[in-house]
Amino acid sequence: MVIPVKCPACNAYLLNKPIVLDSVWKKHSLWLKECQTKIDHKYVITYDINSNVIIYFLISDRKNKFIFKPSENHILASKDNDKKNKNSIYIPYFEPDFSNLQSLLKKLNTYLIFS
Ligand SMILES: [Zn+2]
Repeated sequence: MVIPVKCPACNAYLLNKPIVLDSVWKKHSLWLKECQTKIDHKYVITYDINSNVIIYFLISDRKNKFIFKPSENHILASKDNDKKNKNSIYIPYFEPDFSNLQSLLKKLNTYLIFS
């Protein structure tokens, strides 16, 4: 997947900031790109600076949020008012098509409705 430059929801340029993730064996230097100034959606992508490997990305609308974790082969879906992810579900990972965001969110929200 190509690292996006713009938010798929509003087409605004994503803001960049470096973050460091401590793990047991080494420190990862990551970039976090986000669109978070909007009230009706949030989009965040985190990837390894050196390898361009995506660690996770998050998309949320006003109701629900979805965290894609390619390396763990799942998507964590939770209702947005569920801050502690108590009623979250795991969806098998699939490559998202951000060119049609409404269709993607409809598909993801359907999983939550029937969970
Ligand atoms: Zn946006």
